[in-house]
Order: sequence, then C-alpha cells, then structure tokens
Amino acid sequence: MNRREFLNSATAIGAAALTTCCQRGFQTKSLPLVESGRAALIMAESEGMPAATHFIAVMEQLTNRKLEIQSGNLPGGNRTAVVIGDIQTNGIVRELAGARASKMTPQGILLSTMSYQGQSVLLLAGGSPAATPGAVGELLNFHLDAAPDRATVPELDLVDNPVLPYRIFWNWDHSTIWVRGVPGEQDHGCMNPYMKQAKDYLNDYRRIADFMGEHKLNGLIIWGFLRDSHGGIATSKELVEYASARGVHVLPGVGSSDYGGFYYEGNNRFNVPTWVAQNRIGLRFLGDDGKRLKDAICASQPENQKWLREGAEWLFTEFPRLGGANLENGDWMACQCDDCKRNRRLPGNDPNYYYDMMATQLPIMEVAQRFNPKGWMTYATYTGFNSEELWKLAPWRAAANTSSHPSVPKFVSRYPDTAICQWTYTYMVDGWGREPEAQVRKKWPSGLKPPTKHSIGLLHQGSQWTRSPDIWWTKSARGDDTGQRYVDISELIRYTCTRCAEEGLEGLEIQGEVSDDSPANELNYLAFEEFTWHPRLSMDDFVKNRLSPIYGSHEDAQRFIKMVRSTERSLPSLLKDLHQADEISNNRQFNSRQRQRWANLRCELARRISLL
Ligand SMILES: [Zn+2]
Repeated sequence: MNRREFLNSATAIGAAALTTCCQRGFQTKSLPLVESGRAALIMAESEGMPAATHFIAVMEQLTNRKLEIQSGNLPGGNRTAVVIGDIQTNGIVRELAGARASKMTPQGILLSTMSYQGQSVLLLAGGSPAATPGAVGELLNFHLDAAPDRATVPELDLVDNPVLPYRIFWNWDHSTIWVRGVPGEQDHGCMNPYMKQAKDYLNDYRRIADFMGEHKLNGLIIWGFLRDSHGGIATSKELVEYASARGVHVLPGVGSSDYGGFYYEGNNRFNVPTWVAQNRIGLRFLGDDGKRLKDAICASQPENQKWLREGAEWLFTEFPRLGGANLENGDWMACQCDDCKRNRRLPGNDPNYYYDMMATQLPIMEVAQRFNPKGWMTYATYTGFNSEELWKLAPWRAAANTSSHPSVPKFVSRYPDTAICQWTYTYMVDGWGREPEAQVRKKWPSGLKPPTKHSIGLLHQGSQWTRSPDIWWTKSARGDDTGQRYVDISELIRYTCTRCAEEGLEGLEIQGEVSDDSPANELNYLAFEEFTWHPRLSMDDFVKNRLSPIYGSHEDAQRFIKMVRSTERSLPSLLKDLHQADEISNNRQFNSRQRQRWANLRCELARRISLL
C-alpha cells in the first residue's frame, strides 16, 4: 500500500463520539482532546513511551495543559483516551487497529478516531515501534487544531505508508546547529575541529531526533560521530539510545581509508592516524605525488584489512543499537602503491578508485552482516550512475573511445546484496527549475536505473556544498562559503523523489545540519517528509494539504513561501515583508508553533536586511 489511504469509516470499530464544531468557517465533526475542565488520557506501554512523552510535551506547549499518562487496559468511561503504540508489540493497539493493521508496513502509520466499548478513542499507531513517533507527529503537525486550553482533532481514519523507505539526513558534527546561540558554532567547512561542548553535541542531536521522529524521517548520518572532544564513546552512546527510541537509525560516518576510520578524532586504536602512526609506513596510502599520507590507509595491505574487520566488530559491539553505518573511503582516492596498482589490473576488480572503495569496505560489510544484520550499511560511490558520471574518474577517462568502458562496475557484484549504495544525485538533477526541463531530464533519462540492488542517493543542493551565485543573500561578509545552506530546494527535492520512485530507487539523503528555526530549511525538511512518502504528489498538493496547517492557512502558506523564495534586494520591499511576517506572528488565531514559524521568517528577513 503506497498511498495515503482514507479508509471507509464503515470499517471502523465504531463511530467516535464526535461533536460538531465550526473550524475555520467549515462545519466539521471533531473529537475534543482538551476543553474546559476536561482533558484526554494518554495510554502507552513501554515501546510507545518516547512518542507518548513527546506528544504530552508538545500538547503542553500548544494548550498549556499537561495530559496524564497511564499504562494497561483502557479504563472505559466518558474520558477520551489517546492510545499511542505500535501494532507489533502492543495488543490493545493491534485490537483497535483491526483490519487496518494488514494495510500497514513496518514503517506505516495509522491515525483513527473511534468508539471502543463506549469510550472515545484516538489511536496513533505505528507499524512497528520505530514508526510510532511518526504517527504522533502526523497528528500534531497536520491534523490537530490547538490553542491555549483547547485542542480538537477531526474525524480521522488514515493509513499511510512511505514509498521511499530510506529518508536520511547527512551531517557533519561540527557544523550542525539546532540549538542556536552556543559558543563554537560553525556554519561551513569539512573535517573541522569540534568547537562546542559535549553537552551541546547531545543537545543538538536530541532536537534533530525529535524533529525527525515527528516528521517520519528515519536515518541520520553523522560524520565526526566519535571524538574525544565531544565526550567520546559515552556521549555517542547516549545519542544513539535517544535517536533509536524515536525511530531514527544513527549511521556513523566511517572512513574506510581517509576520514578518520571508525573513531573520527582522538586517541583510539580505531582512529586512522593513531593506527598508522603505530605501524610500518607501507600501511599508509600512497598519493599521486609519491607521498605517504598520515591519515589514510592503503587498501591492499592485509594488516589494514584485519584492522577494518576488528574496527567494525568493535563499533557494532560497543554500540549495539546503531542503525548501520555510512562508509566513505575518501573522495575519488586511489592508492598508487605497487600492490594497489596490480590489484586494479585484476579482472575481478575495477581499474579506478572503486577498487579502493570496495577493498576497504567489504571487510566492514562482512562483519556488519554478522554483528548488526538489520543495520543499513550505506556506502558512497561519489558519483552518479548515468554514463557521463559513472566512469568520469577512471584512468582512461580522457580516451576518445568511451565505448570501451564496462557498463557495470565490478564492485556491484562484490558487495553483499544487503548493502545500500549511495549514489550522488547532485549532478543528475542539477539545473531543475533553472535550466530548460528537457535539458535537465537528459541527465537522468527515463528508464535509467542504477546497477546496484539497493540504491539511495545524496543531494548536495540546499547546503554549503552547492554555490548559489544568483541569490545575493547567500553571500556573507566572509564570502559565499555557506552556499545554499539557507536556500529553499523543496521543488528539487520533489523532482528527485519522483525520479527515485519512477526508477525504483529507495531513498534520499539531504543535509540536516540547520535547525528548523530557519524557514527555508524547515520547508525543505517538510518537502522531504512529504515527497519521500508521496513522490507523485505535486507542489500545489503539498502547499494546499500540508503547508496550510503548518503556516496557518492556504493563503498564508503561499505568502510564506513567496517571502522565503524572494530574491528581492530593496530595503523597502524587505521591510514590508518583515512587518507582515511580524504581524502574522502575533495572530492570536494561530497556535504557538504557527506563530513561531512566522517569527522565524521575521528573523530570516532581518538577517537578509543585515547583509544589504
Ligand atoms: Zn596501496
């Protein structure tokens, strides 16, 4: 079942005790959760507790009322119950879900109002414990009508399952800023030192995990996952526990040659510079210039292969709840030692950096299959899969006769079937909305699928990794190093998700380093949620159905997007937008989250004005 499905209410256990009310001018049936003198009771068991606790916290923020929580059987009576849990581990949830359970995948959600033994019930259910936070988030963000001392939900009977199962944020630890105003913030750079405190690392990633849980995003790649400077193993363990309880797979960046190894920075045996400093020089990567690197390993040395196996065993044993890993060997890096050169000439191996990638990653993949068989083992090829990209960094790339290239790289058949190949979508979709459509579509023609069994991809747009010279406010006094970090790319996300679904790819990674306080980034994240779940919907559908409750109304959603996307540079015009955003942020008809979004837009407009 790949579509949001509104079930016929005839299949419900019973009609809920719904009252008729007037909501934004329409007569709709609704179930009150908070009203004068009464409030719903929250019901959850252990697996649903993180989602239930989050629900109570957000409800308190919206209504100023703290809801009570209980475990066990439904108490009956005339007090509305909100039952939060999943159909795999919670018998009451399964019973209430009834026939709908068979329509839910493990990542699916169910939101339903019903009457059970005379009691009004709102069921918020996941297809597995990991999906429950998403059911709660779907209600809070898109279906709840709440204000101080008041909250209602309309009649609901909604089953929804995602089309793309891998919905992943790709982050560096050092430039992740979700709790703002902390000393040590950095908004661009690669392989930077971590400049904040260990507690800040946790604070940032707790907020990310809460957001991802609410918005049905389920994978979080962290480069710099393990460092002495943010508390080493103990802090990262806390991070993994917190995120996995919210349905988020933490995928540490593991450098299989470059990028630090398993322990990004610090005194640990599984940190690359530490490892190579203690061993013979031949273990080090040999560059094109004949120099041995202190921070990357040669793919062919047996000691390194053994170290990679031991490192993987250590990582998955130390962090049993890890959601997998994200492997990179070092962008297009090919060791030039005699052993590697000889191995690249063997018929079973690729002739370029794909060999180094494969030779340093298969040992990790093999161990992961034994120690973390359900983990998502993702690996980066640093390239797209169209013909222009696939072999662009092969040694013969300058040759005139490109027909001599093998169509399928050798690594494809050497990785285990469970491995998830991370291609680079960036150039395959680049220019969408800027260049003529036919020209952009040629970069990823219809019918072109990757050769790998499980495939996802990374988009660099919307981050510092893509420049935006046409947008004046992407440049700061420091230069334009932050690139598209604060730029809306929601339409590109929609197009990319559509292409993934059309060609059978399974997911997408975008950068998630910037807090949802930033309007353009929150808009990107909301588009990421919607179009990974429903890649065939249009931008208009998204604005009308999803952004209206986010920004207050359909008209306000259109107004909000227009201001976010505007490249207007005149001060009077920017001030006009700023004053309008300010006015709407004080609209008492809107709830506190909606008003906060308009206040965030006011801040963004002030930021742009400061750059004039
Ligand atoms: Zn080598």
